[in-house]
Amino acid sequence: MAATRRPGRNHLFVPGPTNIPDRVQRAMLVPSEDHRSVDFPALTKPLFEDTKKVYGSTDGTIFLFPASGTGIWESALTNTLCRGDKVLTARFGQFSHLWIDMAQRIGLDVVVQEEAWGTGADPQKIEEALRADTNHEIKAVMVVHNETATGVTSDIGAVRKAIDAAGHPALLFVDGVSSIGSLPFRMDEWKVDCAIAGSQKGLMLPAGLGVICVSPKALKVSEGAAGRNDRLAHVYFAWEDHRKQNPAGYFPYTPSLPLLYGLREALACLFEEGLENVYHRHHVLGEATRQAVAAWGLKTCAKDPKWNSDTVTAIVVPEGVDAAQIIKHAFVRYNLALGAGLSQVAGKVFRIGHVGDLNELSLLGAIAGAEMAMNDCGLKVTPGSGVAAAANYLRENPLNKN
Ligand code: PLP
Repeated sequence: MAATRRPGRNHLFVPGPTNIPDRVQRAMLVPSEDHRSVDFPALTKPLFEDTKKVYGSTDGTIFLFPASGTGIWESALTNTLCRGDKVLTARFGQFSHLWIDMAQRIGLDVVVQEEAWGTGADPQKIEEALRADTNHEIKAVMVVHNETATGVTSDIGAVRKAIDAAGHPALLFVDGVSSIGSLPFRMDEWKVDCAIAGSQKGLMLPAGLGVICVSPKALKVSEGAAGRNDRLAHVYFAWEDHRKQNPAGYFPYTPSLPLLYGLREALACLFEEGLENVYHRHHVLGEATRQAVAAWGLKTCAKDPKWNSDTVTAIVVPEGVDAAQIIKHAFVRYNLALGAGLSQVAGKVFRIGHVGDLNELSLLGAIAGAEMAMNDCGLKVTPGSGVAAAANYLRENPLNKN
């Protein structure tokens, strides 16, 4: 059966994939070309340098994989670690859970600090665990910067301070899938060793391009592990294969041309706006969303303002209300895609993604739609209350810093 036609634009407010700017879509409309041609490096070589800027890195090395963020998790782990290596991490949402699951399944010894969903990584606990590890058995600390399932941002600068305070040599791996390109990310300053991103969130592209920025320290660890027979297996995600070809502008296998052209245009969009402006815009839109939630008399999943994410807000519905019903109704009736509650919070939250290419009026559309859907589904909030609160905040807080 043909899909129902829904006139007008779909209002896409899941926290990824995000809206693709028209000019980025047009940039991806390219004929196929020879990815081994003499012309190809003119496209690719600047991409490696420019992509580093959204990571806040000059020292790092970028690898671009035809993959999603999940593949890049695997790339970070398998290029640096050996079977049975100990890694330290915290679980506080579905994505931190899935990364832990992957680490266990590929043969790592994962030390998990359980944190309440709605909170994030605890630098003090991380420091204590590292101090106790006097033999330096922990080889890496893994942290999800922005837990997309709960709308929580962890403080990576504080995690770095904790590692340094413990005087521990562990590598620092950060999942920046829903932060890089939207929230301040300071790879070099925070001495992040592997920073992981996917194309479909802050980079405003379709899914399919996995991006990792790797520190010189992690590259060295990876080289050092090369001769070991207990090294975690990796072939498709091997950095060494890319390192042989990337400097000349080529890849060890066929890259997605449209995504590379799209990346070039998306980076141009980010740089034209200015990264500091991009971060500021996300903060203002995040805060406007939180003002709306407060006006509805509801709570966010983030348990304290210090955890608030500026790319996604998870809104907790009262006991007896099914958030999944609100999400379905918003889509069917108002052509509005809200984010679902995942795993532990399924049915208990719905999420408004405010990440990527959006502005005041697009956000207000989502808030209006959420308000209508909630009321239609029996969750009575004062009509217009969220829109008014967000609009008032937005009128007083311009998106552009300058
Ligand atoms: N990490 C975070 C924080 C995410 O939000 C996601 C997906 O939403 C992933 C990892 C997995 O990325 P992908 O779906 O691109 O494999």
